[in-house]
Amino acid sequence: MSNITEIFGTNVFGDEEMAKRLPADIYKSLKEAISDGKAIDRHIADTVAEAMKNWAVEHGATHFTHWFQPMTGITAEKHDSFIEPAENGKVILSFSGKNLIKGEPDASSFPSGGLRATFEARGYTAWDPSSYAFIKDKTLCIPTAFCSYNGEALDEKTPLLRSMEAINREALKIAKLLCGDDVTKINVSVGSEQEYFLVDKAVASTRPDIIFCGRTLMGAKPPKGQEMNDHYFGVIKPRVAAFMADLDDELWKLGVYAKTEHNEVAPAQHELAPVFTTANIATDHNQLTMELMKKVADRHGLRCLLHEKPFAGVNGSGKHNNWSIATNTGINFFKPGKNPEENKLFLLSIAAFIKAIDEHQDLIRYSTASAGNDQRLGGHEAPPAIISIYLGDALSSVFYDIANGEHHESGGKIKMNIGAEVIPYIKKDTSDRNRTSPIAFTGNKFEFRMPGSSDSIAGINTVINTIIADVFSEYAKRLEAADNIEKEILGIVKEAYNEHKRILFDGDGYSDEWKDEAKRRGLLNLPSTPEAIPYFAKEENIALFEKHGVLGRNEIESRRDIAFENYCNVIHIEALTLIEMLKRDVMPAISKYEGRLWRIAEHKASSVYKNFETKTAEKLAEYNDKLFSLCDKLQEAVEETAAMKDLSRSALSYHDNVLSLMDEIRTLCDKAQEITKREYWPYPAYGDMLFHV
Ligand code: ADP
Ligand code: MG
Repeated sequence: MSNITEIFGTNVFGDEEMAKRLPADIYKSLKEAISDGKAIDRHIADTVAEAMKNWAVEHGATHFTHWFQPMTGITAEKHDSFIEPAENGKVILSFSGKNLIKGEPDASSFPSGGLRATFEARGYTAWDPSSYAFIKDKTLCIPTAFCSYNGEALDEKTPLLRSMEAINREALKIAKLLCGDDVTKINVSVGSEQEYFLVDKAVASTRPDIIFCGRTLMGAKPPKGQEMNDHYFGVIKPRVAAFMADLDDELWKLGVYAKTEHNEVAPAQHELAPVFTTANIATDHNQLTMELMKKVADRHGLRCLLHEKPFAGVNGSGKHNNWSIATNTGINFFKPGKNPEENKLFLLSIAAFIKAIDEHQDLIRYSTASAGNDQRLGGHEAPPAIISIYLGDALSSVFYDIANGEHHESGGKIKMNIGAEVIPYIKKDTSDRNRTSPIAFTGNKFEFRMPGSSDSIAGINTVINTIIADVFSEYAKRLEAADNIEKEILGIVKEAYNEHKRILFDGDGYSDEWKDEAKRRGLLNLPSTPEAIPYFAKEENIALFEKHGVLGRNEIESRRDIAFENYCNVIHIEALTLIEMLKRDVMPAISKYEGRLWRIAEHKASSVYKNFETKTAEKLAEYNDKLFSLCDKLQEAVEETAAMKDLSRSALSYHDNVLSLMDEIRTLCDKAQEITKREYWPYPAYGDMLFHV
């Protein structure tokens, strides 16, 4: 275990290194460019590039890469060495401002949803100076945005950066009115807690479903699951502890504020929480975290599963996206303070939040939709696919009173002695119910619990920033026109509460009653990804994103198509994997054991006592027969679905026809597994994977 303060950020070309290595005027211009989002001129870029290269080479780097986030959900890199041929067959190490600012990866195989086809196959990467460069695997990585020839975003980062500008623009108007003139910038802060599973590498590598799909497509329930709750916050096993320590070290070197590591509810499930930071950097850091989790696990003979639902019947994994905004002077819009009922900025912000979420349930749902997350959302231990907000009793009563024109008396148990104290209050009294909400107020921020564990958090934060910016722009207009700002704010709060209170729900989000209740309230319920995707490109949403300069029509439509394609691809691969497992492993194994049982029965002296053999063999024969015909049906369904030209129809068919057959097959497989002698079953059982490490 190394000294944290010594190793923290050693692989990052951060502020300290910049200050040390850059001439004062260049350093100052760079800082200004970063904080005000100004363009960087060539002279500055050249100087920064030279300093960056020297630093990187001193730290053992031989290559550089533009590090970007195409719409595959993961990061991409293309390494170039610093080498330039020099005279006498020698080489020099060079890295110019041009290399730093712009890259032209041959990016024709990244998803573009048709955007690039109309222009040209090349993509461009552009330096994002607001996220520090870092060294990974002897390579200097430069965080970049990725776009087409015409500047259309082909990545996750660009819209996020644009949405941060949008919320900065609109929230700044509010802050100028309520927080004083010294406010010049609004920062979006994000902390994303990452859940994951660890399984033994040797055990996992015998399962094609884990290798190809990241989740199990079959597996009978083990006798023990998570019902004892003995894993949650339990003692961390030595092998896992060693992994976590190693992971922390790696992350700290990269300047990632990894803070909390603990066991989660399900056996073999864990969580890592970083300290929050700027949305853009938090997104980069989360990508690095996921990448390093896999890499470090491998070193420890483990396999890290980031899939949302690796094991059926066991809790899935999410990514809790904690979101808030604050001024550059340190005022958090969502911090209630001692007297929330008198904190105008806070009341207005919560009002804006309630209105934005209620009006844009479809976008929140869309931004968390994926084939993997479909397995998790709406389950009995995951947030429902219905969007609602949990405010907690204390805060709800403040809003209720304002909306009903009653004076809010802070007192007794309801008293929000906020600041630090609201957190223990919520935790202590309502944490059970709190956990079932997809969006919960947690003291000075909102926690979004729907995002899937393998997803980039760029999408959800782009949506949150944009929809809040939109409401703030409306509120700012009203406040600027108002004679009495305080009165106007109270009016806004009242109105937001009365018009949007249907989105507030403090009860049990996992219950069936909530589904009925939500329907009565007219809330949107989109259980599957193919149902959620089309909402993204609705005219009013295109208008919203265009209004705030976050995404244009082309970009939205291309993203929608990519979302459909991704969904189809995932289910397609899962179906093919299942077919292969059935044909090559499962059906032959069942048949073999069945044959064995018949032979034993045949050779038995007694003609009576063969029930176990004959009955089991008959059952197995029946299952195998059914599996055989279902396997054919699945193959047909996959071929038909894959041949469909229309993406949305194809996605729906993958959901309605392919996935449902896969479920049926799974049920049969699990039944067969339960009565098959252990050594005959071709794959390690759930128990072997979940309790092995
Ligand atoms: P809780 O226990 O209620 O989840 P924590 O303090 O553990 O609260 O925070 C959980 C996550 O939320 C951490 O990643 C933390 O850094 C982050 N977080 C805390 N404050 C903020 C904030 N103002 N904005 C965004 N994220 C925050
Ligand atoms: Mg939390």
